[in-house]
Amino acid sequence: MLTGMTEAWHGTTGGHSNHQCKCHACREAWNAYCRIYRQARRAIGICMQCAQPATPYARCDEHRLTHNAKMRMRARARHPVT
Ligand SMILES: [Zn+2]
Ligand SMILES: [Zn+2]
Repeated sequence: MLTGMTEAWHGTTGGHSNHQCKCHACREAWNAYCRIYRQARRAIGICMQCAQPATPYARCDEHRLTHNAKMRMRARARHPVT
């Protein structure tokens, strides 16, 4: 166990959404939540961000593009080309 991780909300979705915690346990909980949320949205065929029809993806065209752009920027930040 790491020190400074005694708060009860660590490892829950509240750690990420309420406390903006970036620790591994909170991120894992948030990722698991997002995965389930996305799968549920995909199953009923609507965008997870605006609830418009979005089959076969879990996002409508608009939100899929903005999400993809964000992911690309994040990947670039993690692996700088220069
Ligand atoms: Zn945490
Ligand atoms: Zn959308």
